[in-house]
Amino acid sequence: MKEENCIFCKIADGEIPSKTIYEDEEFRVILDISPATKGHALIIPKEHYADLYQIPEETAAHAMKLAKKLASHMTKRLGCDGFNLVQNNGEAAGQTVFHFHMHLIPRYHDDGNQDKLCWNHLTLEPEELEDMFQKLVDID
Ligand code: AMP
Ligand code: ZN
Repeated sequence: MKEENCIFCKIADGEIPSKTIYEDEEFRVILDISPATKGHALIIPKEHYADLYQIPEETAAHAMKLAKKLASHMTKRLGCDGFNLVQNNGEAAGQTVFHFHMHLIPRYHDDGNQDKLCWNHLTLEPEELEDMFQKLVDID
């Protein structure tokens, strides 16, 4: 299924041109137009799924398999020193395009970003940590 007015549906379809580095029946992999580092690419499923909550388990598994393949390919071709896989879900998590995608970010010692993705660390009280544990333990 495609979604009208979704830019990634149009890119995945080829309706909007992109620098496609890989394509198969299920995915298109393009260079990000506003890259975090040199070589930053995006894995985009051809079907429209808004995010990780919507994407079928099997498609998500295929996306991860493809990410592994591309990480090796990109590292070999670019000679990068490290690699981040990033996948944002929801505005609160920084998602700006609401069609599932996985960021492939080659990292270089001198790429001008901080070594790791940045967040502030919370200092939780033991009870708060226990509360989180009780909420999360035992998956349905
Ligand atoms: P996110 O913030 O996780 O939703 O990531 C969206 C990404 O899509 C950003 O890194 C954008 O630079 C990238 N992007 C948006 N429009 C285009 C486009 N037309 N072609 C390539 N990348 C795009
Ligand atoms: Zn879409």
